[in-house]
Amino acid sequence: MMKDSAKKKLQEIFGLENVLDSMEDRIAYSYDGTPLISSLPQAAVIPSSPSSIGVEQISKLVRLANEENFSIVPRGSGTGLSGGSIPAENSVVILMARWDNVIEIDKSNLTAWVEPGVITGKFQSLVESQGLFYPPDPGSSQICTIGGNVAENAGGLRGLKYGVTKNYVLGLEVVLPTGEVMHVGGKNTKDVAGYNLKDVLIGSEGTLGIFTRILLRLLPLPQAGKTILAFYDSISKAAESVSAIAERRIMPAMLEFLDNPTIRAVEDFAHLGLDTECGALLLIEVDGARSSTEEDAAAIEEVCKKSGANNIKIAKDEAESIKLKAARKTAFAALARIRPTTILEDATVPRSELPVMVEFINDSANKNNVQIGTFGHAGDGNLHPTGLTDERDRDEIRRTEKAFGEIFRKAFDLGGTITGEHGVGLAKKKFFEELYDTPFIRWMKQTKEMLDPNCILNPGKIISVKPRCEGALPKSREQIERLLSKMSQRDTFGEIPPEVYF
Ligand SMILES: Cc1cc2nc3c(=O)[nH]c(=O)nc-3n(C[C@H](O)[C@H](O)[C@H](O)COP(=O)(O)OP(=O)(O)OC[C@H]3O[C@@H](n4cnc5c(N)ncnc54)[C@H](O)[C@@H]3O)c2cc1C
Repeated sequence: MMKDSAKKKLQEIFGLENVLDSMEDRIAYSYDGTPLISSLPQAAVIPSSPSSIGVEQISKLVRLANEENFSIVPRGSGTGLSGGSIPAENSVVILMARWDNVIEIDKSNLTAWVEPGVITGKFQSLVESQGLFYPPDPGSSQICTIGGNVAENAGGLRGLKYGVTKNYVLGLEVVLPTGEVMHVGGKNTKDVAGYNLKDVLIGSEGTLGIFTRILLRLLPLPQAGKTILAFYDSISKAAESVSAIAERRIMPAMLEFLDNPTIRAVEDFAHLGLDTECGALLLIEVDGARSSTEEDAAAIEEVCKKSGANNIKIAKDEAESIKLKAARKTAFAALARIRPTTILEDATVPRSELPVMVEFINDSANKNNVQIGTFGHAGDGNLHPTGLTDERDRDEIRRTEKAFGEIFRKAFDLGGTITGEHGVGLAKKKFFEELYDTPFIRWMKQTKEMLDPNCILNPGKIISVKPRCEGALPKSREQIERLLSKMSQRDTFGEIPPEVYF
């Protein structure tokens, strides 16, 4: 438990109104987008905006955590799917989402300085209105933050052609586990001074530093785009098209895939006129100069027909393009309606192994008698097998977890990875430590131990570093529910009886 003296010092740093420690607030920050796990923080704090004042507060917070032995969990919008912003034991959550200023858009260097709480989709719209382009496009772009994207090295729908978040981060201002403020990178296209620490911080899931300002690379906005939807009898035919498009040397901006259960769920939800009998569909988008997009779209139509597409739709205008893209963009929401608990995973394989992987996912679901719908970024082999289950049914959850264990191990055996974009966090730590090279895991642990000896920052995420991080696993959703039901039997949200503390 956090000492009263530490809470008082938090209030001195952030001001009384910016330290949230009522039970309602603690519950609000006890979970993120990851099902089945949650844990109460001791408090949540809001650093002052603008960030120029707040950075000093964050430094003080980190120093206090080292002195008073509590941990800090950075949080953006809490849309993470691997448990990255779920509170550790005896932790304070730092809420970065209110730092949402775009500080500068530099049109001559094609860069932008942003605060970490800027919402990705809002930033995309802002730069597009000025003829510029920020490609990373996670499915959650309308709600997630750039800070969370950098911490997870988020991918998204345009990964095949444009890469992921790390390809667009030029510089960072970061508060270190010591409380010092470090600056890495800058506006230079070329800069090889020293180790590439910027790339160590990107994807570090809040375990090595707290980002306070981020310098992003921008591109000129493509002149035109063309959207195509192709329907297939079977997954293997759709996968053939994916390979054939690559062999034709065309690089679509989007090359997305939905299997039959997902198509049915989307049609039931969004009524887009999709063929619910087909085995799979591909959503393809090409972009670039007007003339080349027309040529690429025609070539893709030909390739898809040759490799077995039985129906192809090409959007005639922007309105039709948005409608076709809705088939993919609503996939998660559509699947989430089917059962109470939705487990969205991201097993990833080399593109050539897609048919084997999708078949394996279906076999594993059947064998374990669980429901899994699959969609994802076919172009970069990043699949989202999505478990549709009910967390109140312990046996079904056990079977679903067994199926996912088989799926991750198979992806790894095929030369793939247990996570293409959602991160390791808490949810995949077990598989990470089991499957990956011993020296790789050792280097990571040594790095964490050296940079954060008191294990202050987001302990227990990605890897366990003994002794402190080992114990920092969150408690289950069941315990939160037990607490909530106890609380609902009371008149006020006053002191909680000791038996429900956790
Ligand atoms: C419907 C849905 C679709 C999604 N689609 C995609 C997708 O296509 N691609 C993809 O990659 N992900 C996707 N995600 C996952 C998620 O949106 C991303 O991981 C996103 O980057 C998280 O951003 P956030 O602001 O919500 O961060 P949070 O969930 O709050 O935090 C994520 C991690 O970042 C750390 N963090 C946050 N802010 C900072 C900071 N300022 N400094 C240091 N660390 C920080 C946290 O400690 C945590 O470890 C999806 C999620 C949902 C719910």
